[in-house]
Amino acid sequence: MPQKLWDLMRWAAAEVVDLPLRHGFECDYQAGHLWASVLPRHVNSLKEWQQHAADKWNYKNLQFIDKRDLPTWVASDRYQAALFDPEGGHLNPLKLALGLAKAIEAAGGVILEQTRALSYKEVGNRIQVSTDKGQIHCDALVLACNAYIDQLDPALGRRVLPVGTFVVTTEALRPERAQALIPSNACVTDNQFVLDYFRLTKDNRLLFGVGCTYLGGMPADIAGAVRPRLDSVFPSLKDVQIEYGWGGHIDISMNRAPDMGSRGNVYWMQGYSGHDVLPTCISGRVVADAIMGRRENLNLFMQLQHRDFPGGKLLAPWLEAPGKFWYRLRDAM
Ligand SMILES: Cc1cc2nc3c(=O)[nH]c(=O)nc-3n(C[C@H](O)[C@H](O)[C@H](O)COP(=O)(O)OP(=O)(O)OC[C@H]3O[C@@H](n4cnc5c(N)ncnc54)[C@H](O)[C@@H]3O)c2cc1C
Repeated sequence: MPQKLWDLMRWAAAEVVDLPLRHGFECDYQAGHLWASVLPRHVNSLKEWQQHAADKWNYKNLQFIDKRDLPTWVASDRYQAALFDPEGGHLNPLKLALGLAKAIEAAGGVILEQTRALSYKEVGNRIQVSTDKGQIHCDALVLACNAYIDQLDPALGRRVLPVGTFVVTTEALRPERAQALIPSNACVTDNQFVLDYFRLTKDNRLLFGVGCTYLGGMPADIAGAVRPRLDSVFPSLKDVQIEYGWGGHIDISMNRAPDMGSRGNVYWMQGYSGHDVLPTCISGRVVADAIMGRRENLNLFMQLQHRDFPGGKLLAPWLEAPGKFWYRLRDAM
């Protein structure tokens, strides 16, 4: 199973490059991911991961970058070292979603926006879905509702916990100023437990994200909440305005592995636990194959044990939050 997951993640990394080419749309894909260490004592874990990837997965593409060379990759004193993965990358997720939607419609699919599924039931060998706009009858139903599944399917809802995350973008910078921040144009995540993630956009803004809130809420002032974190990475941007800020929820599973499966003709995919765009690509492929009668990969995923969060929807966030607080303290030490 671990080897299969590894292979599928590499397949998905190639698939997000290929999808726009196959369907003729643009999503600003840019190759390269830097995994940067904030704390000196975490530098070794980068080297250990590089070794592990080579030994266990025969993946020898990871490049270790020490502090001296880091400014030519990401110009921030906050980091002690980094690992560069050429198969990672970043893209504009809205353009990806719109491009895929167009491809679905071109293939004859119908997308019903602003239509909330309220409940579903099996009627004979078909599924009847009740929505706020009417009923839909289908041969197979795929539940891909992220952290918003709970009312539609409470049993699946108990297996994921909504976690808030939010991002900002600065005003557009002069191209040279933007490029000087991340000369490699890679996306960057740090290896803290509560991580920062950032990249440049095609129009030369810095997009900077932080996570995460286990208690579900979003800061009233997202820009104000992110600003100190952004300034600690790039103090030179103190004069730069934050123009946009937004947030949403991701869904984490107890074992932090994707939760895919089926009951009869009802399929589900959830619990990407912060890995997100690549595993959504995998689950789309795996569930589509299963619907077409090729269930091998779905059967493999269904061997992963997924449990309910203890305490249910009301208590689980409060039980997880102290754990996160403890790891946040460790991040600071
Ligand atoms: C601020 C932020 C930053 C992020 N940054 C990254 C990143 O850097 N890298 C990364 O890989 N991922 C990132 N993600 C996660 C990513 O955007 C997706 O949330 C994740 O890939 C999960 O995808 P999904 O398809 O399961 O869910 P979503 O993309 O959330 O889609 C679920 C859809 O289901 C719909 N839905 C839910 N319930 C119902 C219902 N009852 N009836 C009808 N429709 C329903 C929702 O409206 C939504 O459109 C970020 C998320 C946020 C919020």
